[in-house]
Amino acid sequence: MKIQKIKLHYQDIFKCPYCGKTLIPEEWDEKKNVCKHLLYIQNDSSIVYLSKRIRHILENEKGFNLEIIDDLANEQDAGLFLIGDIVAYPSLVEYEFYSEAPGGISTFVGISDKYK
Ligand SMILES: [Zn+2]
Repeated sequence: MKIQKIKLHYQDIFKCPYCGKTLIPEEWDEKKNVCKHLLYIQNDSSIVYLSKRIRHILENEKGFNLEIIDDLANEQDAGLFLIGDIVAYPSLVEYEFYSEAPGGISTFVGISDKYK
């Protein structure tokens, strides 16, 4: 399933297109930054935030053991799968915040207006 992908510079201030909540991956704070449209935040090596809905899909439909994935990402800095490449979710749009600095990593933010 093809999802819509949008590239943004990592310094861009990003607001949820549906509710206007400001989401800044670089200064991520789960208590302050979550809105109901946010499905996940990840970078190349770790999962920063995972909504219950996406966690459910990964564990129950895709068969992942997320505790092991978290361990792998933390200990080996292993290349992680991109959630947007494997999860089919209605109206999912994935924003990539990139840095052009050498070795700079990208942060991927998944958002959808279908949150029920
Ligand atoms: Zn929102």
